[in-house]
Amino acid sequence: MYFDDSQSQNLQNYEEEEEDSDDNYASNSVSPTTCSQGHRSTLVLQTKQGGSICLLCFSNLVSNPQFPTVHVSYALSQLSQAHSDPPFLRSLLTFHPQLLVSHLVQALASFDDYPIARQVVDLVIALCDSSDPSLSADFVARLSDRLSCGALAWSRRQVYTLHCLGVLLNSQQSNPYAHIRDKYGLITNLVSGLQLPSEEIRGEILFVLYKVSALQYASEDADGTDLLFSFCPKLVRLSLEALIKTQSDDVRLNCIALLTVLARRGLFGTIYALDLNSMSSSEGDRFGKATEDGKDVHPLNILFTEAIKGPLLSTDSQVQINTLDLLFHYMSCEGTSGREIQVLVEESIADYVFEILRLSECKDPVVKSCLQVLDILSKAEQAFKQRLVVGFATLVPVLHYVAEVPFHPAQSQTLKLILNCVSDCPGMLSPSHIKELVN
Ligand SMILES: [Zn+2]
Repeated sequence: MYFDDSQSQNLQNYEEEEEDSDDNYASNSVSPTTCSQGHRSTLVLQTKQGGSICLLCFSNLVSNPQFPTVHVSYALSQLSQAHSDPPFLRSLLTFHPQLLVSHLVQALASFDDYPIARQVVDLVIALCDSSDPSLSADFVARLSDRLSCGALAWSRRQVYTLHCLGVLLNSQQSNPYAHIRDKYGLITNLVSGLQLPSEEIRGEILFVLYKVSALQYASEDADGTDLLFSFCPKLVRLSLEALIKTQSDDVRLNCIALLTVLARRGLFGTIYALDLNSMSSSEGDRFGKATEDGKDVHPLNILFTEAIKGPLLSTDSQVQINTLDLLFHYMSCEGTSGREIQVLVEESIADYVFEILRLSECKDPVVKSCLQVLDILSKAEQAFKQRLVVGFATLVPVLHYVAEVPFHPAQSQTLKLILNCVSDCPGMLSPSHIKELVN
């Protein structure tokens, strides 16, 4: 007996009722008795421990913010414990899945309480893992319905709904994207949520947008509509602004993952053109449109270079590598022009990459990612030449490293950069460089 609170009728049904469990526990785990609230017997499932859980009482309790959270937490822990018992789980999923799905989804938005949200998400995942894919599909449909519904104002409580949807979209279940009913409504609300001041919400939104975009492109709508693209350039501008603002590596990873999906689709060139059109059709000149609050609005390509500087300087090497990979896809996609590469070099991105290389201690995969980016940046010949002279000293130890690894993918890129530097600026080679190169 965990609680002795006679005022809570609902709670009684989660207590371990120490009845004669040998007599009461039946293999079908459906109790023949009603609960203390008089709910019908098919809703009352017996637990292996000899207690019983009335699913209707449970559902009412976990989705009503007026109940004390300690009771809600207790009820959730009892169901989590009972669900590991196969007969209980079978009865639960055979007879009452809808009841459970709707109330657990409701529970996520009912309490602004992290430990309870954690319990609900864990229970949802555990139920989905032990059921057929239709349960996960139901959860995805209901969670996304809540987020698609424009009537819901954004609040902190939606962080948990977003998080739970993100976890399910990230699971290996087949094509969760297909179960989002109002895709347009969902993305509309997510994009507008990116403007909220809460970094936590932005981080969760960026992850859901990343998963939705990746799943959308993997599943390709029959009519070939690119739903994400219809939200550009606004989506890209807000994502880049979120990336500039954040110091959190988790938020950075989510944002970079989303931008990488868009870059791999080759969308940036078209998005830039759309953005320039919208800027030139409004007041202000190309580089200095000012908003009503007096802030400058920069063209997207400038915003992009500003946004990736923070992640390139991150102490988390995974953030650095993912940002370098974003840069690689961004520059190598069909729609990106030489002008964008030139802008990146002029805005010092090559210096950042040389700096990552200098601090890499010649470790892969950082070396490989840096070299493939530098290789493309070198196409901006004149602008890049000055950067190469400065970064040359960091290339010498890298050459030693890649030369020692048979078939290292960065060998030819490293040699090419060194050759460019030696042939273009022979005067900058110091005797020590020459000695290092020939040794
Ligand atoms: Zn009941």
